[in-house]
Amino acid sequence: MFSGMNDANAMYRAWRLAFLPALALLGVALPILFLSLIEQYLYYVRPLELIPIYGTAWLLLAGLVVPVSLIAGLGLSAPKPRSMRRIRGILALFLIGLAAAEVLAALAHGVLVWVRTFGLLATIHFPIELAALSLSTGVFLAILPRGRAAILQRYSVFKYGAALGALSLVTLPFSGWSTGDTATFASFSVTAATPLQRPNILLVTVDALSAEHMSLYGAERLTTPRLDAFAREATTFDRAYANGNFTTPGVSSILTGTRPWTHRALQLLSWPIRETRANSLPAMLIRAGYQTGYVATNPAAGATRNGLGSYFGFAASDRVPSIFVCRDGLERVLRYQCAATLLPPFGLVQMLWQKTGQFLGGGSPNRHFDPRVAMQSALEWLAGTDKRTPVFLWVHFLPPHAPYAAPAPWLGQFDSSQTARDVGDSDAKQKFLFARVTPARARTLEARYDESVKYVDYYIGEFLEQASRLLGPNTAVIVTADHGESFAHGYGGHAGPGLFESIIHIPLLVKLPSQSRGARTSQLAEQVDIAPTLAVLAGITPPSTWEGRSLFEIGGPSKTDATTPKLVFAMNFEENSRRSALNTGSVCLIDGRWKLVHFAGALHYPLMPQLHDQLYDLSADPRELSNRISAEPAEAERLRWLLSSELARHGGPLRENQY
Ligand SMILES: [Zn+2]
Repeated sequence: MFSGMNDANAMYRAWRLAFLPALALLGVALPILFLSLIEQYLYYVRPLELIPIYGTAWLLLAGLVVPVSLIAGLGLSAPKPRSMRRIRGILALFLIGLAAAEVLAALAHGVLVWVRTFGLLATIHFPIELAALSLSTGVFLAILPRGRAAILQRYSVFKYGAALGALSLVTLPFSGWSTGDTATFASFSVTAATPLQRPNILLVTVDALSAEHMSLYGAERLTTPRLDAFAREATTFDRAYANGNFTTPGVSSILTGTRPWTHRALQLLSWPIRETRANSLPAMLIRAGYQTGYVATNPAAGATRNGLGSYFGFAASDRVPSIFVCRDGLERVLRYQCAATLLPPFGLVQMLWQKTGQFLGGGSPNRHFDPRVAMQSALEWLAGTDKRTPVFLWVHFLPPHAPYAAPAPWLGQFDSSQTARDVGDSDAKQKFLFARVTPARARTLEARYDESVKYVDYYIGEFLEQASRLLGPNTAVIVTADHGESFAHGYGGHAGPGLFESIIHIPLLVKLPSQSRGARTSQLAEQVDIAPTLAVLAGITPPSTWEGRSLFEIGGPSKTDATTPKLVFAMNFEENSRRSALNTGSVCLIDGRWKLVHFAGALHYPLMPQLHDQLYDLSADPRELSNRISAEPAEAERLRWLLSSELARHGGPLRENQY
């Protein structure tokens, strides 16, 4: 009897220990990490949506750690010979140390996030250094009897914290960004008398492809031989611009025909607002009878991720092999899973998974970015489409997006040094942190980027050839980018307040059906012009809410009067809530040779210098080296007035029903 009680007690203690790290993570570390990210979440969700995001994170984490706890529990409680006691003891110490390490790591991360808002400690890299520090402190605590006792005393805090998180699961069935898009279609007409038979449309977007790094646009290195060849039978727009400066706003402007101040997909995981989704290019095309499909190898670019998934009959971002938990398929069930997986534990799991895969030699280390993955899915789908109905296919390639290291034979072509040859070591320090990169390393990174441009150029060439064979001559082909990439001005990568030419000047090639001669034009163009161009080609009247104009006078009247001068607007409002008036961010206006860049509100980025408005004469100074804002006060004033009146027109707070 007495021995039975003892056994039951030992069993109870074993299971308590087994679940200690899981409960510490779910009950204390998760709330701390979540609180440290709250500002970021509130940029694009309503406060009430925080609960289902938290619930989703809780659920996904529990899915990861509960099975491990069960295994540990079985290991600790199963009857075992005396010789196993030592191993059991070590396992128990490990579990206690792990629980302490998780809580310490979360605390350190939270403090780091807070300190960074003052521009300090920007170069400390989480999770590697902090994870190592927390883990060793945790192990140290577990070895000391007092430390062990202190951790075990907090068991009920862990338990109740985890139980409280579990309560938030109740909100999951009721939560969701509304997907009732199909009910709110604006009226639009399909012109029956279009002289062209409605063409197939092939839209290729390349992530982070800067025009100035392409031989097609005059770069010294031969980076784009395949696109140079393609341009011989297409129209090349020499002055094409992205409307945003990172993936989400850029892709959203291409697909919705509206600028970021209108579609409001201003943060990495935010969606274009309802009316821009309902009037988007894929929505128009699917209603006009097109077969629509997309493949995206950047998880952030996919149409489902941007709320446009219901307008695509075929989607293949899920086929990209990766355990990245932010995936289209899962998003349909758990609406907030992408937002939830922004939390550091998921990044850590992802990194460990990738490292393990690389260590075991499972495929190319850059498999996730491999253009062949996108090509294969896209071509398979094309081959199976109905040849009597027109096709709209959108393919998004991730290279040359960081990490830049391309596979052989491209790697090393423009820089034979042995550095930055690994996907783990070929990322430019983002934004102002780039100022800390040595000139030699900056040059190497730029060369690695160029190698990656040549790498993706090769596969774009292959893809266009094979797709054209499947689609036939009645096909319009567009090749463009979501944004560019910077290696100058002490500013690396993209996003943030930087609107330099390297980040927003993008390639734009349009091959009209049966076009066989190349042309170049220096007319200004921007991403929002792509949708009206394609709509007109497809015999669809562009909705009045679109902000671009058709690039050609073809197939009927284009909505905008070609005699009004073309103005280009690019912007970043990632530090502004998408719901409120747009008064924190950067926005630029390009009018002919002039470019005005305006910074507004209390921007804060690590190592950010004081930002002042800039005026550049792009024809005399294409590298933006000389700020003319005081030298040309009249020009600056005229552009400021234009910019502020447009911003006043589009930048107000959103109405609640616009989501
Ligand atoms: Zn991008």
